[in-house]
Amino acid sequence: MTQTTNGGAGLRTPRVAIIGAGMSGIGMACKLRMAGIETFHIYEKWDDLGGTWHANTYPGLSCDVPSRNYQYTFAPNPDWSQIFSPGPEIWAYLNRVADDFDLKGRVSLRTEVAEARWEDGEWKLRTKAGDEAVYDFVITAAGGLVQTKTPDLAGLADFEGARFHSAEWDHSVPLEGRRIAVVGTGSTGMQITRALAPVASKFELFQRTPQWIMPLANRRYTVVGKTLLRRFPALNRPLARAWQIVTEGTFGIAVIRPGWQRTLLSAMCRLHVHRVRDPELRKRFTPTDKPMCKRLVMGTGFYGLFSRPHVHLVDSPIERVEAKGIRTTDGVLHELDVIVMATGFDAHLFVRPMELVGTDGVKLSQTWELEPYGYRSVALPGFPNVFMLIGPHSPFGNQSLFLISETQADFAMRCIELWRTGEVDAMSPTREATDRFNAEMKEVLPDTIWASGCKSWYIGADGTPSVWPYEASHHREILQAPEPADWDMKPGPTRSAARETAGV
Ligand code: NAP
Repeated sequence: MTQTTNGGAGLRTPRVAIIGAGMSGIGMACKLRMAGIETFHIYEKWDDLGGTWHANTYPGLSCDVPSRNYQYTFAPNPDWSQIFSPGPEIWAYLNRVADDFDLKGRVSLRTEVAEARWEDGEWKLRTKAGDEAVYDFVITAAGGLVQTKTPDLAGLADFEGARFHSAEWDHSVPLEGRRIAVVGTGSTGMQITRALAPVASKFELFQRTPQWIMPLANRRYTVVGKTLLRRFPALNRPLARAWQIVTEGTFGIAVIRPGWQRTLLSAMCRLHVHRVRDPELRKRFTPTDKPMCKRLVMGTGFYGLFSRPHVHLVDSPIERVEAKGIRTTDGVLHELDVIVMATGFDAHLFVRPMELVGTDGVKLSQTWELEPYGYRSVALPGFPNVFMLIGPHSPFGNQSLFLISETQADFAMRCIELWRTGEVDAMSPTREATDRFNAEMKEVLPDTIWASGCKSWYIGADGTPSVWPYEASHHREILQAPEPADWDMKPGPTRSAARETAGV
């Protein structure tokens, strides 16, 4: 692609690389299309688009964020089947939006970007296969929960049955009537347990740390409701907004400060565990940390499963894996056919392993050596014209990543617009503004529930949670438009000409 000018409208044509064809990458591409920018390309390392909703195919997969709040604002879906829709339905929605915006021809699948290097005012991008291309902007949309974490259990390779991570499901393995173990009690472990405990001949949930579970019941939408929304599309927006207000006004507040929201949600979790009738078992299911300290697990229909004779909670630590199953430190060998590792992700890699080489050869891998950080979750000093979607400190605790990445994409679009009109050639946040933003955040992070003393994937190497410690609305407010004082901006031709005319 070469840089061109749209003479008719007097606008320059930005070349934009989007890294990742998941929810945020697709959303960004739609925004570019809506702005009339056609010179973009999406790179996707997997063999299909959809990101996390493509990679995760485990039984019971669903989303515990309400679907009306978990969709693009510009593409409301009247056909959600349930309040909390199943994973395949979310993947189908993303696929449909990609079709509606004619994006599929713009995606290079099975194409991993190895490096992007800022040289002579452009980003020179190189894929792992060695292909090269040049862009004015790089949008990182590579997701937060991508790199799977499988514990290094002694003897794991000796296991004679099937074993896999929850995000790498082996669908060739039969499950019905088998002896199944799930290791891990996060959102994933809970959803898989609900799906597999009823079909297994023996089901064992290996719990290292109990988690609070918020009892959110699901409900199917009626045919009448769906028809109404299809017929009167204007109704979609207020409905989506209502769900957003509820989610942000409860979960969004409960995690950042004490108040009725925290009291209410905590009480619901504490009451919920009383679904376990046996006091001894209930004690084993009851966490010692505060509700919401870890990412809150949500759903119903979990605790009741453990009253079935073939469903067991195993909370003796795992000693090793053997050919026939898992041996715990109490000496018991748990004989198994299938072991599922619902053991989570390395959530602190963000854009990496892709390397970005910015001004003066500064590398992303070095910049983030200790811990990923950014300016207002979207940009980094020394990396001009790079915008991150779901970057470090995005507000992801039980919130809609669709809305968050849209806020970030809209911000990127405003910056791209400055380039398009010739105001700016290159822009990155100043070191001072970035440090100030991070220092202010570090001051309030200790007040959040995530810092109340548990171990979770939110906590970074520096011991502080890598999340947004403010209300979700604050994210939108401070990403309305770039504040000139916070940015190093290289003027584009329009501003340079204006300066010359003014004799500056
Ligand atoms: P996770 O929340 O990080 O949970 C991992 C689980 O594995 C924890 O229970 C952890 O125990 C356990 N574990 C890790 N290493 C272990 C070991 N060596 N031995 C025993 N247990 C071990 O991972 P996740 O459940 O996959 O969820 C990750 C994130 O994905 C969620 O927090 C959420 O953001 C997202 N998600 C969302 C939905 C949704 O509906 N929206 C659904 C699924 C996932 P410890 O607690 O002791 O570390």
